[in-house]
Amino acid sequence: MCRRARVMGSSSVLSSAYGLAVIDDGADERRFGAVSRRMEGMDECPCGRAPYAECCGPLLEGQRAAETPEELMRSRYTAFVKGDRFHLARTWHPRTRPEDVSADPSTRWTDLQILSSADDGDTGTVDFVARFEGRHGPDELREHSRFARRAGRWVYVDGDVG
Ligand SMILES: [Zn+2]
Repeated sequence: MCRRARVMGSSSVLSSAYGLAVIDDGADERRFGAVSRRMEGMDECPCGRAPYAECCGPLLEGQRAAETPEELMRSRYTAFVKGDRFHLARTWHPRTRPEDVSADPSTRWTDLQILSSADDGDTGTVDFVARFEGRHGPDELREHSRFARRAGRWVYVDGDVG
Protein backbone atom coordinates (compact mmCIF):
# COMPACT_ATOMS: atom_id res chain seq x y z
CA MET A 1 0.00 0.00 0.00
CA CYS A 2 1.26 3.41 -0.87
CA ARG A 3 0.86 6.28 1.44
CA ARG A 4 0.70 9.53 -0.38
CA ALA A 5 2.60 12.23 1.34
CA ARG A 6 3.92 15.67 0.87
CA VAL A 7 7.65 15.41 0.48
CA MET A 8 9.34 16.33 3.67
CA GLY A 9 6.22 18.03 4.99
CA SER A 10 8.02 18.83 8.18
CA SER A 11 11.42 20.30 8.37
CA SER A 12 13.59 22.66 10.21
CA VAL A 13 14.22 26.32 9.87
CA LEU A 14 17.89 26.93 10.36
CA SER A 15 19.67 30.19 10.08
CA SER A 16 21.75 30.47 6.96
CA ALA A 17 25.40 29.58 7.29
CA TYR A 18 26.02 30.60 3.69
CA GLY A 19 26.52 34.31 3.50
CA LEU A 20 28.19 34.08 0.12
CA ALA A 21 25.70 32.36 -2.11
CA VAL A 22 26.53 34.16 -5.31
CA ILE A 23 29.96 34.57 -6.78
CA ASP A 24 30.65 36.03 -10.21
CA ASP A 25 33.09 34.43 -12.56
CA GLY A 26 36.56 35.85 -12.90
CA ALA A 27 39.66 36.51 -10.89
CA ASP A 28 37.75 37.95 -7.96
CA GLU A 29 35.66 34.79 -7.88
CA ARG A 30 38.73 32.60 -7.61
CA ARG A 31 40.35 34.72 -4.94
CA PHE A 32 37.23 35.53 -2.95
CA GLY A 33 35.66 32.14 -3.48
CA ALA A 34 38.74 30.32 -2.28
CA VAL A 35 38.97 32.46 0.83
CA SER A 36 35.30 32.17 1.66
CA ARG A 37 35.25 28.42 1.11
CA ARG A 38 38.26 27.96 3.31
CA MET A 39 36.66 30.14 5.96
CA GLU A 40 33.33 28.39 5.80
CA GLY A 41 34.58 24.82 5.68
CA MET A 42 34.45 24.57 1.88
CA ASP A 43 30.94 25.98 1.96
CA GLU A 44 29.48 22.62 1.01
CA CYS A 45 25.91 22.53 -0.22
CA PRO A 46 23.48 20.90 2.25
CA CYS A 47 22.58 18.39 -0.48
CA GLY A 48 26.18 17.17 -0.36
CA ARG A 49 27.08 17.37 -4.05
CA ALA A 50 29.34 20.41 -4.38
CA PRO A 51 30.05 23.84 -2.91
CA TYR A 52 26.79 25.69 -2.36
CA ALA A 53 27.60 28.46 -4.83
CA GLU A 54 28.14 25.85 -7.56
CA CYS A 55 25.21 23.65 -6.57
CA CYS A 56 21.81 24.61 -5.17
CA GLY A 57 22.73 28.24 -4.45
CA PRO A 58 21.87 29.68 -7.89
CA LEU A 59 18.55 27.78 -7.85
CA LEU A 60 17.48 29.08 -4.45
CA GLU A 61 18.58 32.56 -5.47
CA GLY A 62 16.41 32.31 -8.59
CA GLN A 63 19.34 32.80 -10.95
CA ARG A 64 18.60 29.69 -12.93
CA ALA A 65 16.07 26.87 -13.03
CA ALA A 66 16.70 23.19 -12.38
CA GLU A 67 17.52 21.29 -15.55
CA THR A 68 16.50 17.87 -14.22
CA PRO A 69 14.12 16.47 -11.59
CA GLU A 70 17.14 15.41 -9.51
CA GLU A 71 18.55 18.91 -9.54
CA LEU A 72 15.17 20.27 -8.45
CA MET A 73 14.92 17.62 -5.73
CA ARG A 74 18.34 18.59 -4.40
CA SER A 75 17.41 22.26 -4.37
CA ARG A 76 14.20 21.51 -2.49
CA TYR A 77 16.07 19.49 0.11
CA THR A 78 18.46 22.41 0.52
CA ALA A 79 15.48 24.76 0.82
CA PHE A 80 14.11 22.59 3.64
CA VAL A 81 17.48 22.69 5.39
CA LYS A 82 17.67 26.46 5.05
CA GLY A 83 13.98 27.14 5.71
CA ASP A 84 13.52 28.76 2.28
CA ARG A 85 9.73 28.74 1.99
CA PHE A 86 9.78 30.86 -1.16
CA HIS A 87 11.79 28.29 -3.10
CA LEU A 88 9.62 25.45 -1.78
CA ALA A 89 6.44 27.20 -2.85
CA ARG A 90 7.60 28.11 -6.35
CA THR A 91 8.87 24.59 -7.03
CA TRP A 92 5.64 22.92 -5.89
CA HIS A 93 2.92 22.10 -8.43
CA PRO A 94 -0.02 24.46 -7.75
CA ARG A 95 -2.39 21.49 -7.72
CA THR A 96 -0.65 19.76 -4.82
CA ARG A 97 1.04 22.64 -3.03
CA PRO A 98 -0.12 22.96 0.56
CA GLU A 99 -1.44 26.27 1.79
CA ASP A 100 1.39 26.54 4.26
CA VAL A 101 4.82 25.27 3.25
CA SER A 102 6.53 26.34 6.44
CA ALA A 103 8.81 23.91 8.19
CA ASP A 104 8.76 22.07 11.51
CA PRO A 105 11.52 23.60 13.63
CA SER A 106 11.93 20.38 15.63
CA THR A 107 13.31 18.55 12.57
CA ARG A 108 16.91 19.02 11.49
CA TRP A 109 17.77 17.54 8.09
CA THR A 110 21.22 16.02 8.08
CA ASP A 111 21.78 14.12 4.83
CA LEU A 112 20.35 13.52 1.37
CA GLN A 113 21.01 10.43 -0.71
CA ILE A 114 19.63 10.19 -4.24
CA LEU A 115 18.96 6.53 -5.04
CA SER A 116 17.81 6.97 -8.63
CA SER A 117 16.25 9.52 -10.93
CA ALA A 118 14.70 9.55 -14.34
CA ASP A 119 12.92 11.93 -16.67
CA ASP A 120 10.98 11.39 -19.85
CA GLY A 121 9.69 14.45 -21.64
CA ASP A 122 7.76 16.51 -19.16
CA THR A 123 7.54 14.01 -16.31
CA GLY A 124 10.19 12.66 -14.00
CA THR A 125 10.83 10.71 -10.81
CA VAL A 126 13.42 10.73 -8.04
CA ASP A 127 13.93 8.08 -5.36
CA PHE A 128 15.78 9.38 -2.34
CA VAL A 129 16.52 8.95 1.34
CA ALA A 130 16.63 12.06 3.51
CA ARG A 131 17.98 11.63 7.03
CA PHE A 132 17.09 13.89 9.91
CA GLU A 133 17.18 14.41 13.62
CA GLY A 134 13.62 14.59 14.84
CA ARG A 135 11.84 14.76 18.16
CA HIS A 136 12.65 11.09 18.76
CA GLY A 137 16.22 11.01 17.51
CA PRO A 138 17.75 10.08 14.16
CA ASP A 139 15.29 8.99 11.50
CA GLU A 140 14.97 8.86 7.73
CA LEU A 141 12.43 9.52 5.04
CA ARG A 142 12.36 7.38 1.90
CA GLU A 143 10.30 8.69 -0.94
CA HIS A 144 9.51 8.06 -4.59
CA SER A 145 8.82 11.57 -5.82
CA ARG A 146 7.06 12.63 -9.00
CA PHE A 147 7.90 15.76 -10.94
CA ALA A 148 6.42 17.57 -13.93
CA ARG A 149 7.68 20.25 -16.25
CA ARG A 150 5.34 23.20 -16.58
CA ALA A 151 6.17 26.05 -18.95
CA GLY A 152 9.73 24.75 -19.12
CA ARG A 153 10.25 24.52 -15.36
CA TRP A 154 10.39 21.38 -13.25
CA VAL A 155 8.06 21.30 -10.25
CA TYR A 156 7.42 18.74 -7.53
CA VAL A 157 4.02 17.02 -7.85
CA ASP A 158 3.77 14.40 -5.09
CA GLY A 159 5.33 11.22 -3.82
CA ASP A 160 4.97 7.83 -2.16
CA VAL A 161 6.67 7.38 1.18
CA GLY A 162 8.12 4.11 2.34
ZN1 LIG B 1 23.06 21.26 -3.65
